[in-house]
Amino acid sequence: MIAGILLGSASLTHAQVKGYTDTPKLPGIPWGVHDPSRPQPREVGTAGAVSIKPPSDAIILFDGKNLDAFTQQNGSPATWPIKDGILTVSKNDIQTKESFGAVQFHIEWRVPAGRKVDGQMGGNSGIFFMGLYEVQVLQSNKNPTYPDGQAGALYGQLPPLVNATSPQGEWNSYDISFEPPIYKNGSIEKPARVTILHNGVFIQNAESYLGPTLHRKLASYPATHAERAPIRIQDHGDPIEYRNIWVRPLGQRDQATQP
Ligand code: MG
Repeated sequence: MIAGILLGSASLTHAQVKGYTDTPKLPGIPWGVHDPSRPQPREVGTAGAVSIKPPSDAIILFDGKNLDAFTQQNGSPATWPIKDGILTVSKNDIQTKESFGAVQFHIEWRVPAGRKVDGQMGGNSGIFFMGLYEVQVLQSNKNPTYPDGQAGALYGQLPPLVNATSPQGEWNSYDISFEPPIYKNGSIEKPARVTILHNGVFIQNAESYLGPTLHRKLASYPATHAERAPIRIQDHGDPIEYRNIWVRPLGQRDQATQP
């Protein structure tokens, strides 16, 4: 019995999963970046979006009305369309006007029903903390892809613990805590870290990034790093829908004022 079957992917063979076999090996494990043979995360079964009303101290990034909290990466106004309180990915990534370090972040997302999805194509977006560290957004229910590219993956680095993505056309939620890397004397003392609840299910539990997200390459940390940077939402060419986006900078204990 192979690992894939033990993990509940009996109908899936490696040949059916598109990925890359010419990529660098990830450190300490037998798989490479975007490796199609890495075991598929077990399917949770039924989960579903958890819609949380923003706490009163949250910074509202999108409440269905406007994109005032965002710009394009070049600083020009964000232009993704809003209809019936729902934001739809359109041309060019958008990013928050405000810069953030450690945060609690909530977002709800949906891939329109009936849209053709095939692996990484058709239902792809992503949340980039500090503009660098992606939490993948992907239609991952009934859409096999390389595990480090599915919904909730630290893209190109770490698959989610389980697959908790809703059926296409239904809403999903992410509740994420993100901590930036800490440098000391010009080198990494503590890597960037993330915890993710996907539809109320822990799919990443205090996991570390190997470095800023890359495609087909092994990530590593740069020599220097901003303390705060905008949160970016990816345009991968697919009309992913978003609603209820808010963020809370994480304070530090034993400090009279928030950072
Ligand atoms: Mg993506």
